[in-house]
Amino acid sequence: MNILYEFEHRLLPTWSYRSDQFYNDLINIGEKKTLYTAAKNVYDSQKMEFPFTEEDFGGFHVRLDVDTVVALLRLPQPQETPLCYCAFIYMDVNTNRIAYYTLEKGTDPVDGRDMQFLCGWDSEGNHKQYHNFHTDNFRLGDLFLIRYFYAVFRDLKGIKLPDEFKEEKENTRVLKCPACQKEIIFDGSDINEGDRVLVLCDYCLRIYQLKYENGEFLIENKIQEDKAQG
Ligand SMILES: [Zn+2]
Repeated sequence: MNILYEFEHRLLPTWSYRSDQFYNDLINIGEKKTLYTAAKNVYDSQKMEFPFTEEDFGGFHVRLDVDTVVALLRLPQPQETPLCYCAFIYMDVNTNRIAYYTLEKGTDPVDGRDMQFLCGWDSEGNHKQYHNFHTDNFRLGDLFLIRYFYAVFRDLKGIKLPDEFKEEKENTRVLKCPACQKEIIFDGSDINEGDRVLVLCDYCLRIYQLKYENGEFLIENKIQEDKAQG
C-alpha cells in the first residue's frame, strides 16, 4: 500500500498545488487517462508491478460558480485505511488559490465499523481532518462531497464537528432535520443577520444551506446524499 499511499497522499497534492502541467492535463486530457498514466509511471519508476487498469481511475471537472472549478479524481477502490476513494481539487480561477481534499477509507477504532474520513492536505503538507461518517455499506455520493468541500473551500460558516457541541452552550443552535426529524446541533456563535450557514445531518447525511434572518435559520435548499456507488 505504501506506493499507492505516496501517490494519493503525497504526489497528487504536491502536483495539485505546484504543477500547472498536471492541472492542464486533467482538464485537457481528462482525469482517467491522466491519473492512470501518472500512477503507472510512479510504479514503473519503482520497478513495481502495476496492479490497476485504466478503469480503476476516472473523474470529471465542473465549474461550480463564477470563480470555482472542481476536479473530482476517482481512485482505485481502497483496500486499506487510509487509502482514498477519491480526491477533489478546488481552484479559484480568479486568484489561483487551490485546495486538495480526500475521501479516505477509515475504520472506527472502537468497534471496527467502516468509516469514511473527509480530509485534505494543505499546500504546506499538513493533513486536515474535517468530518467522519459511519458508512457501513455505501460510499458518500459525489454531490454531497462536492457540496461539502465547496463549503470548506469557501469557508462558509457552520461546518464544525458535532463532537464539539456535546455540552450545550449559550450559542448552541438546534435545527430539526425535516427529513429524519433528528436534531442537528451546531455552533451559532459568529453568525450574523443575513449570514449563510451549511449544516450536516449526521443521521441521514443531508446537507442544508441555511440563511440567518430575523433571528431564525431558514432552509434555503437541501442536497440529499444519493448513496450512489462510485
Ligand atoms: Zn436528517
